[in-house]
Amino acid sequence: PKNDDIHVFVKDKLYHRNEAKVSVFDSSVQGGDAVWEGLRVYPEGIVCLDKHLTRLQESAKTVAFTDIPSKAEIKKAIKMTLDANGMTDETHIRLTLTRGEKITSGMDPRLNQDGSCLIVLAEWKPLVYDNTSGIKVISTSQRRNSPQFLDSKIHHNNLLNNIIAKIQANVAGKDAGLMLDDRGFVAELNGSNLFMIKDEVVYTPYAHACLPGITRATVIELCQKNNIEIKEADLTLSQLYNADGVFATGTMGELTPVVEIDGRDININDQVTEKILQLFKNSVRTLCEKL
Ligand code: PMP
Repeated sequence: PKNDDIHVFVKDKLYHRNEAKVSVFDSSVQGGDAVWEGLRVYPEGIVCLDKHLTRLQESAKTVAFTDIPSKAEIKKAIKMTLDANGMTDETHIRLTLTRGEKITSGMDPRLNQDGSCLIVLAEWKPLVYDNTSGIKVISTSQRRNSPQFLDSKIHHNNLLNNIIAKIQANVAGKDAGLMLDDRGFVAELNGSNLFMIKDEVVYTPYAHACLPGITRATVIELCQKNNIEIKEADLTLSQLYNADGVFATGTMGELTPVVEIDGRDININDQVTEKILQLFKNSVRTLCEKL
């Protein structure tokens, strides 16, 4: 399927992609002042929809948006968009909520007088990574924000840190950039969370300087339910290099093995990693919610 003819929901109606626009006075254009969610659609519904909508609303409340749409309103906009595009499978949705249009350019939120602006962009997009071959990553010089700079629990569109980390990975010819926190501990990849396995115990960084990913939460729950020991911890690069297995998690790539970090090979045949990948595959469609 092609994305040339898709319709996009902006504020209160659908537009053909060529006509779907926000104002140059929109907060997102002038200040990256927006929050967002990525959602994955299966025929069974949308994976962890309610958790994504909660995170969107909580992010918007944290940055003090006004007229934040209700979950029912967002679901209605998503349904209109999917119906208009005849989309049932292989769809990825990017929900964006901007602070809205300003009366002049400028950073002061008081210049926003019309409330926030919801964008529902649904595209035909398969998973970004082939989770059989795995990805190679490189640690970057770009630190992930910790709460003393910008609370990582806000899922915002100020993505320059992550984009710079991704550029460093691109320059190195690798798939993703690993970001440390301001103390030098592992935070996450530029667009996904990280897990490692050592001696049959699963570890993931505390969600202090990484996004508390919804796929991350699903993996933690799956481990707990299946008697696999899981711990949040401060992890160093050395621990990752010497792990028995490493994998990344996110809505765009689901669970993806990491096969190389900074030129060190990571074992791809770790049994616990394989078990978790399988558990996720078996349960992802049961986590889908209908609109
Ligand atoms: N970290 C970052 C920086 C991300 O942008 C994302 C994707 N939204 C994730 C992690 C993964 O989060 P989730 O599992 O909720 O998609």
